[in-house]
Amino acid sequence: MATPFGVYLHVPFCTTRCGYCDFNTYTAGELGSSASPASYLDALERELEMAAASLAASGEPLRSADTVFIGGGTPSLLGEAGLNRLLAAVRNSFGLSVGAEVTTESNPESTSPAFFEGLLEGGFTRISLGMQSTAQHVLQVLERRHTPGRPVAAALEAQRAGFEHINLDMIYGTPTETDDDVRATLDAVLESGVDHVSAYSLIVEEGTAMARKVRRGELPAPDEDVLADRYLIIDQRLKDAGLEWYEVSNWSKPGGECRHNRIYWVDGDWWGAGPGAHSHLGDSRFYNIKHPASYAHKVAEGQLPIKGTELLTAADHHTEKIMLGMRLREGVPRNWFAEAADPVIADFLERGLLGLDGGRLALAEPGRLLADGMITDILVAEEN
Ligand code: SF4
Repeated sequence: MATPFGVYLHVPFCTTRCGYCDFNTYTAGELGSSASPASYLDALERELEMAAASLAASGEPLRSADTVFIGGGTPSLLGEAGLNRLLAAVRNSFGLSVGAEVTTESNPESTSPAFFEGLLEGGFTRISLGMQSTAQHVLQVLERRHTPGRPVAAALEAQRAGFEHINLDMIYGTPTETDDDVRATLDAVLESGVDHVSAYSLIVEEGTAMARKVRRGELPAPDEDVLADRYLIIDQRLKDAGLEWYEVSNWSKPGGECRHNRIYWVDGDWWGAGPGAHSHLGDSRFYNIKHPASYAHKVAEGQLPIKGTELLTAADHHTEKIMLGMRLREGVPRNWFAEAADPVIADFLERGLLGLDGGRLALAEPGRLLADGMITDILVAEEN
């Protein structure tokens, strides 16, 4: 079976900037008159046409999209008409495989029953909603604006419209958050009946308003032990409710896994369109111009808005496959690792942090809390 191919579309607009966020996204005030959602839609359509044409010209067989993921930013600001137009642009350029998974991220505040009905009609199959937390004081620290209860209400509206696959995003470990806040958020998540949950620990990214507050001592930095405890609370509660982990930060009911994200995790191929989007095709990785105005300008000149390209070596592929694959529940084949890593792997196996089953090496339960450090240790050992 051919490896699945994904298309990612980046929507670089948000109503306001949340204090912890370092994504490539802009408010209307930041963009001024230099770019608008309407000019962005034109540019993105044009980029997709050029992308498909350039692949055809290079002799690469054109692959229809098995998955489409519209992320941001806040894609729902484009409304169902704008998002359906983006999906039509994928159909008209790469083409869409039968049974393709088509997801859009959405901010619950910019959704409605009509929005979800319109998306379902347009061919979307999956909705990913930002929730983060139900605790108002946590949302305040994140500088995230939500009407209380709106994320769950939006998930229910999406279900009523006919969506089977819905994700709610949680963030845990925000300063001032308590264990009970996490439990209350989980109650709300489970009440909504969604089939997928992503839960990421808060990372204080350099250059964000939150990082400045932490530096000035106005907010404490997230505590590693607290993060570990919260992860365990989340994992246990979701597991009890029938949502099993399949990647360290992702849980789903059977059949609810996100096929698009899996393409990233197995070092697969995808085309990323839109400002700052990254692509990965075989041995090359490339990324687009970041600012929406410069991006649109380049596309208007009839050129692909690619800013940089990198050729991946066999060693790069190996590192990526292990870094991402080891975070998956099924792990990776044991025989992928160089002999030099044997002592480190043996030690992790002995300490019960890794497990070996059917020739695959995978994280054992306690190892999930230490995943990134363990994977780095293995990769470093391989090089020595
Ligand atoms: S809504 Fe999402 S993408 Fe936009 S600023 Fe907030 S966290 Fe970032």
